[in-house]
Amino acid sequence: MVTFVLTIMSESTKKKKIAILGSTGSIGKQALDVIRQNPDKFEVEVLTAYSNDELLLQQAKEFKPNAVVIVDESKYQNLNNELWNEGIKVYAGEEALSQVVQMEEIDLVLTALVGFAGLKPTMSAIEANKPIALANKETLVVAGDLVTAAADQKRVPILPVDSEHSAIFQCLVGEFHNKIEKIYLTASGGPFRGWKREDLAKVTKAQALKHPNWEMGAKITIDSATLMNKGLEVIEAKWLFHLNSQQIDVIVHPQSIIHSIIQFEDGSMKAQMGLPDMKLPIQYAMAYPQRIESNFPRFNFLDYPKLTFEKADTDTFGNLSLAYKALDKGGTSACALNAANEITNRAFLDEQIGFLQIAEINERVMNDCSFIQKPKLKDYFNCDKEARELAERLIKL
Ligand code: NAD
Ligand code: MG
Repeated sequence: MVTFVLTIMSESTKKKKIAILGSTGSIGKQALDVIRQNPDKFEVEVLTAYSNDELLLQQAKEFKPNAVVIVDESKYQNLNNELWNEGIKVYAGEEALSQVVQMEEIDLVLTALVGFAGLKPTMSAIEANKPIALANKETLVVAGDLVTAAADQKRVPILPVDSEHSAIFQCLVGEFHNKIEKIYLTASGGPFRGWKREDLAKVTKAQALKHPNWEMGAKITIDSATLMNKGLEVIEAKWLFHLNSQQIDVIVHPQSIIHSIIQFEDGSMKAQMGLPDMKLPIQYAMAYPQRIESNFPRFNFLDYPKLTFEKADTDTFGNLSLAYKALDKGGTSACALNAANEITNRAFLDEQIGFLQIAEINERVMNDCSFIQKPKLKDYFNCDKEARELAERLIKL
């Protein structure tokens, strides 16, 4: 962590050139808002999207990056026809993501794409010594050991964007030498906080997509409803802050004002708070180690006379316990859990399975998938594939 601070300090006066992987998503669009507000501090070097060529085109015309990538190759021609005149390079396909992140001019890579697809480009960016602003938590969940080892070896900082991890990181500034006793990750509890299993059996996709406090992409919104998101965040925290499972607690805090809490060896606790708005942690990671002015709405204590806290219901929301099991078992188990969850999450959105089946199938896949204790990168790819196939089969039963 100390290396992070020193490395980035020297860079702080020049305009940062940013590559945004997943610029058409919820985090990507908010990152562009931050850049729009701070044209003297940030510049867009690369934008990427999976298949939304229309929005990518609009963004490219506004921000004039050096290059864009569209993963869906069928959209390449149209995009290239439009951007050729503007002098913007257009690339297509998954492999192009891992190549563009190595472009010399890039100062920071914001990983705002969703799922396992983030792993390869993140590793590639680290290999090219690019600091990472990490929103794509799945990458750390799947292969946190390899990703953090590569980042340590290259002395590349991984700056958290997830609000809870950003909170912990912000509380750690000035404390990097002090030992963390434990952390409390706060959870809103999602739209079904307080519900019991029998009520959950029939919930619809529309109900699950209504998050009480945050507006996010569909996958993470469903993950928040099942508490898988908090489970993934527990594993993400292990790798970011080098903690074991006993040092990571989850506390339900329905107002989402306290974004997380750190407790030091002397018992002192520090929390970071503010209105729920992802632009703040995005901006913090992009501007780190500086804080820059913002016009985001400010918190007013009198609007929130009560901040409350509850225990997470891990019996009803099994995904959170699965994440702790995966964390303790190590090896490929979190990779299997993540892959299963990407499939079950999608199947729930496609109305192929019910809400409770998400955790049930995730658990079966985690138990049945082949296990490797000390995986290499290729083992994670194999595990991801096997777990997806297992989950698909269970969905069809
Ligand atoms: P989103 O679905 O809104 O956007 C995802 C982006 O990734 C899009 O630009 C899409 O084109 C791209 N993408 C999707 N699949 C891809 C693939 N296979 N290959 C390459 N690109 C692909 O998602 P989001 O809500 O912005 O979340 C992005 C990441 O940030 C996730 O890992 C999520 O867990 C994390 N995160 C999001 C929030 C939030 O508020 N949205 C908060 C914390 C963390
Ligand atoms: Mg979060």
